[in-house]
Amino acid sequence: MSDIIVYNSLTGHKEKFEPLYEGKVGMYVCGPTLYSEPHMGNMRTFINFDLIYRYLLFSGYQVKYVRNITDAGHITNSLGESEDSIGKAARLEQVQSLEIVYKYNVKFQELQRMYNMLPPSIEPTATAHIQEQIEIIENIIENGYAYVVNGSVYFDVRKYCEKFEYGILSGRKIDELAEETRTLNAQDEKQFFADFALWKKANPEDMQIWRSPWGDGNPGWHIECTAMSTKYLGNQFDIHGGGMDLKFPHHEDEIAQSCGSFGCNPARYWLHANMLNVNGQKMSKSFGNYFLPKEIVDGTTEIFSKPFTPNVIRFCMMQAHYRSTLDLSEESLSAAEKGLSRLMDAIKLSDNLKTTNSSSFDVNELIRSFYDAMNDDFNAPILIAQLFEAARKIFLINDGTETITSTDLEKLKVAISGFLQDVLGIPLHMESDHVKLAPVMDLVLDLRQQARLNKDWTTSDRIRDGLAAAGITIKDGKEGTTWG
Ligand SMILES: [Zn+2]
Repeated sequence: MSDIIVYNSLTGHKEKFEPLYEGKVGMYVCGPTLYSEPHMGNMRTFINFDLIYRYLLFSGYQVKYVRNITDAGHITNSLGESEDSIGKAARLEQVQSLEIVYKYNVKFQELQRMYNMLPPSIEPTATAHIQEQIEIIENIIENGYAYVVNGSVYFDVRKYCEKFEYGILSGRKIDELAEETRTLNAQDEKQFFADFALWKKANPEDMQIWRSPWGDGNPGWHIECTAMSTKYLGNQFDIHGGGMDLKFPHHEDEIAQSCGSFGCNPARYWLHANMLNVNGQKMSKSFGNYFLPKEIVDGTTEIFSKPFTPNVIRFCMMQAHYRSTLDLSEESLSAAEKGLSRLMDAIKLSDNLKTTNSSSFDVNELIRSFYDAMNDDFNAPILIAQLFEAARKIFLINDGTETITSTDLEKLKVAISGFLQDVLGIPLHMESDHVKLAPVMDLVLDLRQQARLNKDWTTSDRIRDGLAAAGITIKDGKEGTTWG
């Protein structure tokens, strides 16, 4: 097992990764809040942690990867007000909260499969861990770091600062925070502006309510992650990850809750994935560059002139380091498409290369560079550059400019496919299967169309159901029938 260096947001430095238990890794990543369809920016965060998870597995670690599903709880909105986003969506659609959660969870799971993400080891939900959340809040109160007001419980930041440092992760100082936060008014239950809710007394419009020692209510935003991460990974574990936007207040408050309850920071390494831009700007409905992850694949967004496959999108995302912003544009996607097809061509070519009794370049060094890239804070763009270098060598061997032994060729092939499939998560055969299947599907869809014209619904349904059983879904639209 070679040394992995990670950038720890907690210290602001790159550090040697040393898990608490040799050969084992406990990793917690903040999952989606299911009140709307996950957008491309969310997907980038999850794809980046999928890369990290995959590389830890590839390096031989036994990884327990916990990623929660937020299906309850009040989230602080941009005005600093507490808001029940799931309840709000449920009221808007006139359904129950869990219908909203279930609907968007189905979509989220579909997207995970579409973008070839490995499922986490456990995907716990907040609503199934209310008791655990209550127990931690009780602990924090007992330790003197929280107070109860009128059926709600707040974390006491001033008391906490007597022993711990609030702002340790985000670097935000209490004095600076005071300047950017509105002052407390007479109705506020909080004793200090930086205090945050652990438990909120039920409002009349709340759709989900639980019993607690402080009366009926629901948990604050941050406590669920403390409850679920420590329940499954222990009071202290190795990696805590999430999007950069969660650093403050969410992760800062998670640290405060863990210190307040268990006396320690929950994670030794805090990893944060950067945001996604589209055409040079933050993705937003008001900038007109907003689209859903599915729309870019089925070509229904007008932002791009043509659809791109999930493999190409994923490959494009991997060409930016997880801590850098990524700009998704027609240009970057087309370049990724070309690059990926060149890699695939090289892989195909490598099956029929002539071997000789000596190699004209150091294959081991080339393979070493794949590991070096990923060992340096999961640097996928450097890995991809080295994979392109390997492809260049394969084309040169084919031209007769370079030579390779059969042993070296075998090693190189195993390394390329391992890094591409298992680490970057780009399946080698998916693209070509799609291409091979296309003429067959044209024929099948033609037959179905004929059956429909003849009003032979039994046959047309049989074709549709048979395809569905084979994992192929078809969709009828204005432009004809599409499949995938
Ligand atoms: Zn979280």
